[in-house]
Amino acid sequence: MKIKMILPALMEAKSPYWRPVKYSLFPPLGLATLAAYCAPDDEIDLQDEHVEELDTEDNPDLVIIQVYITNAFRAYAIADHYRNKGAYVCLGGLHVTALPEEALPHADSIFTGPGEDTFPQFLRDFRNKNPRRIYINTKRDLENIPPVRRDLINRRQYLVPNSIVVSRGCPHHCDFCYKDAFFQGGKTFYTQRVDQALAEIDRLPGKHLYFLDDHLLGHQQFAASLFEGMKGMNRLFQGASTVEAILRGNLIEKAAAAGLRSVFIGFETLSSKNLLQSNKKQNLGKDYEAAIRRLQELGIMINGSFVFGLDDDDKDVFSRTVDWAVGQGLTTSTFHILTPYPGTRLFDAMEKEGRILHRNWNQYDTRQVVYKTKGLTAAELEDGYHRAYRDFYSWSNIARASWQHASLPDKLKHFAYAGGWKKFEPLWNFMIKTRGLNRMLPLLESILSTDKRNRKGEQAPPFPAIA
Ligand code: SF4
Repeated sequence: MKIKMILPALMEAKSPYWRPVKYSLFPPLGLATLAAYCAPDDEIDLQDEHVEELDTEDNPDLVIIQVYITNAFRAYAIADHYRNKGAYVCLGGLHVTALPEEALPHADSIFTGPGEDTFPQFLRDFRNKNPRRIYINTKRDLENIPPVRRDLINRRQYLVPNSIVVSRGCPHHCDFCYKDAFFQGGKTFYTQRVDQALAEIDRLPGKHLYFLDDHLLGHQQFAASLFEGMKGMNRLFQGASTVEAILRGNLIEKAAAAGLRSVFIGFETLSSKNLLQSNKKQNLGKDYEAAIRRLQELGIMINGSFVFGLDDDDKDVFSRTVDWAVGQGLTTSTFHILTPYPGTRLFDAMEKEGRILHRNWNQYDTRQVVYKTKGLTAAELEDGYHRAYRDFYSWSNIARASWQHASLPDKLKHFAYAGGWKKFEPLWNFMIKTRGLNRMLPLLESILSTDKRNRKGEQAPPFPAIA
């Protein structure tokens, strides 16, 4: 059977205002995971429109399309095209789960929630010529997932081909997050078995890994065993955590000893009223600065994430946030305009209050205002958002943030990482055009590995490292 798997480009990825490198970081792991359930003699063509021109002249038997909010209209157009050609088309993903009735007219079958049990069931039904229209996932279990079909991914086109996910969901319940909607009707946080996760890591070539888990430190026992197992594997990795998990126990030391060198943290806001509004209870009353100091002592760089436009925000929120982030020595920051995704509690609350301005999903890209604001106007919010990016990544602020670190190697590492990421756009674009983005990986690895401090709990390797 000929199977085509497609990740259509997000609307913003095609915009001249967005950075192409942001969309060439990670391969489509979700589709490659589903591909593992197909038969060995199925011919699978996996295409990621972020890194290649989509070929729609082919004639597959089955088409599987992953739908996010800002690629939804594009996904529907591709689905319609293939259905007109006689292919059987399936749609799944976050947006389909949020709005199944919107997706259904464009598909033969749709999938809501994660696909680990429904996709193999669908394949059996399809081969028996009896597929259902709707597959709803309720069984949440990663016990028997087969190894991801990484052979379908062209590693050279991604900066971080070794992305990996060892859990699903997260233990928290922020109102603006898709997570609860996606995992409705079952467990909203579960992990792989540690030995399976370690085996998947072992299959990945090279040194660098990027864990795309929503919260890598979310399950203490799992994370502790994972990090224990990773010691001695000589890996450098990046991942995401909450402030709370960094402050709790000594898990973060174990992560550092296993090779964690940079962490994404959702600080979101410096206002406790905003945290309450978002139901981000895990951040309430937490000492952000203590968490930052702990990470910096361990040599772990920080990518802070912030949301603008919550109801307690005023006109000064942008400068206040940037000033704080620079003063704390955050290496990189990601800013977002609050976006009420359909299916979330935030969307429902705003809809009840008549605050949703429109349903043009193409504009739900976290850089445009799609709801009626309260503390500041839409224009002030959009201007402030752009200003925050400009200010945070000005050379003077990159230098000032670098200078917050205690040691010279940490200052230089910060400067090289932040400057390299944000200030060399022509070089990134050249590497993407020449399809050699992956050649930049050794540079990323060497920046991440500059840190030679002996971390607490780290044991000397059994053999001397060979550079
Ligand atoms: S902590 Fe992050 S992943 Fe978890 S619910 Fe909140 S926003 Fe979503």
